[in-house]
Amino acid sequence: MKPPICCLCNDRFEPSSGGLIYFTEDQDDKKHNEILKQPGYTGHPSNAFWFCEKHYLQAKKLSNLTKSEAFKILKSD
Ligand SMILES: [Zn+2]
Repeated sequence: MKPPICCLCNDRFEPSSGGLIYFTEDQDDKKHNEILKQPGYTGHPSNAFWFCEKHYLQAKKLSNLTKSEAFKILKSD
């Protein structure tokens, strides 16, 4: 797992104040996460991102979208 640094504002934060959001898997995520499920592989799921307290709730609302759809909205704010 990556250390908790907000993927929007790059703030390092305590895991208790923000959280990890899993977006809907797109084709690439499905491929990537299939590989991670194989024995011996460890890694960070490509559809999982850390968000600080400030951005967590906003990101949570968009977790039913794929990451590219969600980031388009999050970054336009
Ligand atoms: Zn943030």
